[in-house]
Amino acid sequence: MTPRTLLATAPCLALALLTLGYLAVCVVAPFGRCRTCNSTGRKRSPLSRSGRECRRCAGTGLRLRPGRHAINHIKDEYQAAK
Ligand SMILES: [Zn+2]
Repeated sequence: MTPRTLLATAPCLALALLTLGYLAVCVVAPFGRCRTCNSTGRKRSPLSRSGRECRRCAGTGLRLRPGRHAINHIKDEYQAAK
């Protein structure tokens, strides 16, 4: 391999490693923090002080990571095909 070939394959390898790392995170920790309510589960309303339940996370403060959502979809399709 020439140094030029190594230089050309480095971005592809980095992207593949990044994707595999993200999928590993999605398997180990499927839930992430809800950015809408900052993991409090409640969203402040301009009219009331207490606010209301966050609609994005349904008051849990957690949200399913998009990668885990894709993994679950692929699993469901695989199970449906059996
Ligand atoms: Zn939320």
